[in-house]
Amino acid sequence: MPVYTLPDLPYDYSALAPVISPEIIELHHDKHHAAYVKGANDTLEQLAEARDTEQWGSVNGLEKNLAFHLSGHILHSIYWQNMTGPKDGGGEPLAQDGVGELAEAVKESFGSFAAFKTQLSKAAATTQGSGWGVLAYEPLSGRLIVEQIYDHQGNVGQGATPLLVFDAWEHAFYLQYRNQKVDFIEAMWQVVNWQDVARRHEAATSRTNALLLAP
Ligand code: MN
Repeated sequence: MPVYTLPDLPYDYSALAPVISPEIIELHHDKHHAAYVKGANDTLEQLAEARDTEQWGSVNGLEKNLAFHLSGHILHSIYWQNMTGPKDGGGEPLAQDGVGELAEAVKESFGSFAAFKTQLSKAAATTQGSGWGVLAYEPLSGRLIVEQIYDHQGNVGQGATPLLVFDAWEHAFYLQYRNQKVDFIEAMWQVVNWQDVARRHEAATSRTNALLLAP
C-alpha cells in the first residue's frame, strides 16, 4: 500500500485558461506531480529496506530524496487548491468576501496588500534554477512571511506552514509563457483562490503551537 497518493484536481484541465493552458495543467498534474508521489513512496520503501538489512550506506541520499519528493508532493497538493478559474479568483482578499482575518494578517505582516503582492511576485520571479515563492504562517512570531524555496525543500524556516504557493519551475509555465517567468507570475494572481488561502490561514492559526520553544 503506497503511503502517498496523487490527489484529483479540483477542476478540469481547462479551468484555469487562459492564465494556464490545459496542456500545462495535464502534464504538470498527471506527470510531474505524480512523479513526486511515486518518488516519496519509493524512498520510504528504500528506507524500510535499509532498516531491515541494516545497510545504511545510502542513508544520506535517501533522506535528501525523501525531502525533495515529499516536499514536491505537499507543495503541488496545495498549489492545485490555491487556484480557481479567473471568473472566481484573483483580486485581493476583502472582509466582505469572508476573508477579513487573512486580509488583516497580510496588512499587519507586510504593511499593505500591495507590498505583500510585490514581495511574493519578486521572490517567485527571481528564483534561480527551480523553486517556489510561498506565503507561509510562521508560528513562532504568529506572523505571515514570504519564503523563496529552492527546488521544493531548500531555504525554508522550520515549522512554517505554506498557505499560498507559486510554482516557479519552468515546467509550470514554459509551454505557454516560454522564458517570460515574470509575465507568468503576474498572471498567476488572476487565479488565486482567496477562500482556500483563508481556510489554510485559519487552520494554521487555530492550531496549538507545536514548536513549544518556551514553557
Ligand atoms: Mn511543479
